[in-house]
Amino acid sequence: MSHFETDAIRINASKSNQREHSAPLYLTSSFTFDSAEEARAMFAEEIQGNIYSRYANPNSSELIDKVCAAEGTEDGIATASGMAAMFGSMAALLQQGDHILASRSLFGSTHQLLTRVFPKWGISSTYGDISDISNWEKLVQPNTKMLFIETPSNPGLEIIDLEWVGQFAAAHNLILVVDNCFATPYLQQPAKWGAHIVTHSATKFIDGQGRVLGGLILGKKELIQEVQFFARHTGPSISPFNAWILAKSMETLAVRMDRHCENALAVAKYFQDSTDLDFVKYPFLKSHPQYDLAKKQMKHGGGIITLTLKGGISRAQKFIDQLQMISVTANLGDSRSIITHPASTTHSKLTEEEREKVGISDGLIRLSVGLEHQEDIIKDVERALEKSR
Ligand SMILES: *Cc1c(COP(=O)(O)O)cnc(C)c1O
Repeated sequence: MSHFETDAIRINASKSNQREHSAPLYLTSSFTFDSAEEARAMFAEEIQGNIYSRYANPNSSELIDKVCAAEGTEDGIATASGMAAMFGSMAALLQQGDHILASRSLFGSTHQLLTRVFPKWGISSTYGDISDISNWEKLVQPNTKMLFIETPSNPGLEIIDLEWVGQFAAAHNLILVVDNCFATPYLQQPAKWGAHIVTHSATKFIDGQGRVLGGLILGKKELIQEVQFFARHTGPSISPFNAWILAKSMETLAVRMDRHCENALAVAKYFQDSTDLDFVKYPFLKSHPQYDLAKKQMKHGGGIITLTLKGGISRAQKFIDQLQMISVTANLGDSRSIITHPASTTHSKLTEEEREKVGISDGLIRLSVGLEHQEDIIKDVERALEKSR
């Protein structure tokens, strides 16, 4: 195929007879058949074609084709949200009695799925700590079927060695699922390292402007067929409008990520020199404990920084309240820089002990660095740091 940028722009829904240049929005629930025989043959899957937007729609198909080219995956489905993708990837491929091995540092709602939703259906899970991967051998049970990881993790920015995890999954015959939300396919392609399934919250960097929710499940054809069957009959489908937005967003992902990463590195370096901080974490800062690994498997360091201010939670709150430009909200991967306090928001449903284990201290702050001019981002941070002293 062509380069990343070219595929992301040039893979398009086939032209309609209106000869449009940019793919139109197909707001239609169903598609017509030329004959009763064609309808029968399409339902029987003897011929391919759109039937009903719960199954497929030209806008969702375009999005899937673009992201598959970016990830190097064979096929996929698009879902209404990232969580529908996380849930669907597990629910479609597992059954009662199966066991999931997962890295402990996971998005808050994914953690809820593993600990509160799937146990109701007899699917159990165990967490592995990434600081102790030699121990993971012992965590594999006879009924372990799936290995689910997130790298870099939200919000701890822990990095898992994709080469190692790919070999580990193959050696134990596990389905390896990687939530690639933080890196995006522009920075890292887990399928290259042996991931069977790659999931996304497209809500984040893929949309990139904080507009719509969406998710993706991508991977090997034979697994995706199971996922398609599951989705077709349970209905987590993305709306054509959201798919249209996200397919357009893919066209600018590369240039946006370059700037997110450039800005984030500059802001991380600013924090590194500050005496107001206990620590700052960013994958491409030499002080990140897995800097070498980040360099090996990621093109750039990503758009997210985490930090802890001296003075703990009260200082963190003061700092957040003093920001003038940076938004206080729970999203990330937006053109606008965003600050979040995970312990009281995105990860508040975890117990204190669970948060401690994944490095979410009470004072931890997550900064999603946007596309504003980096001098203005730093100026806002600098002012708020001063005012919070
Ligand atoms: C946001 C997020 C999700 C959930 O995605 P939604 O689109 O909000 O449903 C899953 N995983 C990670 C890593 C996320 O950041």
